[in-house]
Amino acid sequence: MAAVNREAAPASQEAGRDVGSDGPGWRYAPAPEARDIVSIEPEYGLFVSGAFRPAADGRTFATINPATEEPLAKVAEAGPADVDAAVAAARSAHEEVWGPMRGSERAKYLYRIARQLQERAREFAVLESLDNGKPIKESRDVDIPLAAAHFFYYAGWADKLEYAGFGPDPRPLGVAGQVIPWNFPLLMAAWKLAPALAAGNTCVLKPAETTPLTALLLAEVCQQAGLPPGVVNVITGAGGTGAALVSHPGVNKVAFTGSTEVGKEIARAVAGTDKKLTLELGGKAANIVFDDAPIEQAVEGIVNGIFFNQGHVCCAGSRLLVQESVADAVVERLQRRLATLRLGDPLDKNTDIGAINSAQQLVKISELAQSGEAEGARRWSPPCQLPDRGYWFPPTVFTGVSQSHRIAREEIFGPVLSVLTFRTPDEAVAKANNTPYGLSAGIWTDKGSRILWLAQRLRAGVVWANTYNRFDPASPFGGYQESGYGREGGRHGLAAYLDV
Ligand code: NAP
Ligand code: MG
Repeated sequence: MAAVNREAAPASQEAGRDVGSDGPGWRYAPAPEARDIVSIEPEYGLFVSGAFRPAADGRTFATINPATEEPLAKVAEAGPADVDAAVAAARSAHEEVWGPMRGSERAKYLYRIARQLQERAREFAVLESLDNGKPIKESRDVDIPLAAAHFFYYAGWADKLEYAGFGPDPRPLGVAGQVIPWNFPLLMAAWKLAPALAAGNTCVLKPAETTPLTALLLAEVCQQAGLPPGVVNVITGAGGTGAALVSHPGVNKVAFTGSTEVGKEIARAVAGTDKKLTLELGGKAANIVFDDAPIEQAVEGIVNGIFFNQGHVCCAGSRLLVQESVADAVVERLQRRLATLRLGDPLDKNTDIGAINSAQQLVKISELAQSGEAEGARRWSPPCQLPDRGYWFPPTVFTGVSQSHRIAREEIFGPVLSVLTFRTPDEAVAKANNTPYGLSAGIWTDKGSRILWLAQRLRAGVVWANTYNRFDPASPFGGYQESGYGREGGRHGLAAYLDV
């Protein structure tokens, strides 16, 4: 994006479209993605045994567009009888069809799903942005292509499991109960379903209450791909539905992505059973910038690290650790860059920052940001006009943050960056590791030897060097400590779904 002269720029002109402004001669005309590619039904059922049907007790809940608060659809709320039915459907599909099927046949279905995701990519992207509030350029360029890539990647493993390093004839576990969050709704569904199906398991998936629509469209794609009934079941609902699923005695494997708090509850619910469990939980990653780093590049990495997807990212680089000698220069350039980000309509192709996913999440972010001020850190946001309706939070940077501040310790899960400084590499390692989490970290330096030295000392599942938030289906992802256990992605991701 072209640099603009912030000083000369007037305050934001078009309500809700610009964080700072676009400066003289650099205004962005609206560029909305057409919404009519998506037809949203007034009401959606549960996807059980290959067909959509209402909940047994007829209960529904509404899902809304968080950018406008407009209700999008009513969705069935699965109760215990529905969870029973979905698990039973998955069980018989596993025993009669999917378990005995040759891997090369299973692969064909996964390839078909992957291709359908590509063919219907624009529809999925628009629906994801409507239901979640994320900018269309992210759903279009990241979420949907990566979801398709996961199906392609695991389709390739389905007939090669004996070469995956888990013995000559690795067996599936049976029925997988999978509970996912709202930050990457379709992508998390793909992370869960693709390896499970490739390994020969059948699935019952519970999407988040605020973002059920793309999982239901994926269910339609499963129908379109001719997937045998019961192999994938999607049961919508709130936390209670998730709790009923993970504690159901017919489930052999539980996979969860979400908060550490709920992850602990699930670990307790599963303890003492023979269910296999993987947990992908929260994070408070350090993004570490050394004085020899290319600063402009590092600033882009910092922005991508914490403002991508409104900071609703478990591996977000939410703690910037910057070497003291360059701290002022880095923060100044970061602020200049943030003033050029555009916040507003998620369907606008120029939007950088979309809506916060829910009123509840906005309250949580606001409360933590207030604690930062109360504890003495300095709060900064670019000049910013927020839309009147919907849930919005401006990009925010805290400087003068100390390690004991709540904003340095707790996961905010919003567009809020805490800046800390360090003098030596040892101090950087000590501060980076001073967290109960351990999901990810970033390093910015010109020295390869320093990258390797740090990567060995950082207690984080993923360490990015001179880049951030890069994902690939072939590379494993997962955490240490309170960030959870188990790996998703790559060959390692298969282990969670095989009896090894
Ligand atoms: P959450 O409560 O952990 O929700 C994740 C999923 O678990 C959702 O599908 C949720 O359903 C379901 N769930 C809730 N209670 C459950 C239970 N007792 N048993 C089984 N499933 C249950 O996360 P959240 O409330 O959406 O967000 C809270 C915080 O979690 C965020 O502020 C953030 O810090 C963190 N978070 C982390 C990630 C991540 O990727 N690591 C993702 C999301 C959130 P409902 O959505 O219907 O309640
Ligand atoms: Mg929604």
